[in-house]
Amino acid sequence: MTPHVEPDPQAGAAVKAADRAHVFHSWSAQGLIDPLAVAGAEGSYFWDYDGNRYLDFTSGLVYTNIGYQHPRVVAAIQEQAAKLTTFAPAFAIDVRSEAARLIAERTPGDLNKIFFTNGGAEAVENAVRMARLHTGRHKVLSAFRSYHGATSTAINLTGDPRRWASDTGSAGVVRFWAPFLYRSPFYAETEQQECERALQHLEDTIAFEGPATIAAIVLETVPGTAGIMVPPPGYLAGVRAICDRYGIVFVLDEVMAGFGRTGKWFAAEHFDVVPDLMTFAKGVNSGYVPLGGVAISEEIAATFATRPYPGGLTYSGHPLACAAAVATIQVMEDEKVVEHAARIGETVLGPGLRELAERHPSVGEVRGMGAFWALDLVRNKETREPLVPYNASGEANAPMAAFGAAAKKHGLWPFINMNRTHAVPACNVSEAEAKEGLAALDAALSVADEHT
Ligand code: PMP
Repeated sequence: MTPHVEPDPQAGAAVKAADRAHVFHSWSAQGLIDPLAVAGAEGSYFWDYDGNRYLDFTSGLVYTNIGYQHPRVVAAIQEQAAKLTTFAPAFAIDVRSEAARLIAERTPGDLNKIFFTNGGAEAVENAVRMARLHTGRHKVLSAFRSYHGATSTAINLTGDPRRWASDTGSAGVVRFWAPFLYRSPFYAETEQQECERALQHLEDTIAFEGPATIAAIVLETVPGTAGIMVPPPGYLAGVRAICDRYGIVFVLDEVMAGFGRTGKWFAAEHFDVVPDLMTFAKGVNSGYVPLGGVAISEEIAATFATRPYPGGLTYSGHPLACAAAVATIQVMEDEKVVEHAARIGETVLGPGLRELAERHPSVGEVRGMGAFWALDLVRNKETREPLVPYNASGEANAPMAAFGAAAKKHGLWPFINMNRTHAVPACNVSEAEAKEGLAALDAALSVADEHT
C-alpha cells in the first residue's frame, strides 16, 4: 500500500498549526502534545504529509476492524447520504431496522433487541440504567482493571487511573478484582486457582455489599485497554451463575472485544456465556460513523413493554452509521473477516509474539486471541517488575516512550498503555502485514531490552 498523495510538508505544517490553535485534545496536556498530521489511510496503513507510511497496530482506537476506507462501506455511506441522510430515532427506518436485525442475529442467546447509541460510553450508561430499572436496585459492581468510557457513570465504573481525576465518589459503584494470573491479586499459581479465588472474592463482595442492593455486574468479556487479560476457563460462567443466584443483571461490555476482534463475532462465544445486556460500538461499523448500542435480552426488554424506557439520544441509530454497520457486517461475512482474525491469531500473531517473548528479556508475558494481543513489558522476567511503574509519566515513563519512538522509526504505529504494548491490527490484516508488524516490534523491543 503506497500513499495516494504526494508528500506535502507545507500542507502538513498548516494542518498542525490549525490543530494547535483550535483543537482541544482528549486525555492530554494541550501544551505538551505534538499530534501527527495524517494525510490519508487505507487498509492497515496510514501516512503523514512527509510521506512516512505507518502500519497501524492500533486500529485507530481498536475499531477499524476491517481497516480504513473499505470501498464497500464508503459506497454504502455515500448511497445512504444521497437517499436519506438523517431521520429522528422515533421513526422506523429501513437501514436502522436492518442494522438491528444483523446485529441481533449475531449476538449470543436471546439478545434480540438493540438500543442504539453513538458510542461505547453511552452504551454503558444505558445498560446500567436498564439494569437499575429492571431490578429496582442501585449498586453496580465493576472490575479494577477495566475501561468503560469517559461519561459520568461509565468513568465511575472504569478501573483505569483515567478515572481518578473525575471520580465523583463513585455513586453506587463497587469495584472488585477480576482474574489476572500473571499479576494475580489472589496470589494464585494456576489458572484454576485464580478462577476459583476470583469467584469466591466476587461472592464475598456481594455478601458484604448486600445482594439485594446490587443491580448489575459489568465486565469486559476480555478486558482491553487494561491489558487484554483473557479470563480463565469457567470464570465468566461462574459470574453468570452468581448473577442468576442473586437476581443481578450480567452486563458484558464488548465495545472493544466485539465484532470479530477476538476471532468470534463476540468474545462471549469463547466462554459459552450469554449476558443479560451486552454493549457494543467500535467494530460494529469499523468506526466509519459513530455508532454503539446495547443488545438486550427478551426478559429485560419485556420490563419496558408497557412501561416507557426513560432514555434516548438525538442521533440514536443514525442512518449513516447504520448504513455503515450493514455494509461492514456484510463485508465481514463475505470476506470471512472473523474467521481470518481467528486464524491470523493462531498462526501468525500468537506464535510470532511468543517467539519475540523468548528472545527479548523485556517481554514478560504474551496474552490474547484473534487480532487482540498484549505484551506485558518488564524490567525483570523473574520478579515481573513492570518496565515502568503503574501510571508513570514523564521521565519515569521514558523506557516506554523510547520503545514507542523506535516502533515508529520502523514504520509501526504502536498501541502503548502503561507498561504494555498491544498488537491490535485490523481483523483483516494480511499475513504479510502481520509479519511486517512483528519485525518492527522485534526491532523496537531491542530498545525496551536496554531498560531491563
Ligand atoms: N467500553 C470499552 C470496553 C472500551 O474499550 C471503550 C473505549 N475504548 C468504551 C467502553 C468507551 O467507548 P467510547 O469511547 O466509544 O465512548
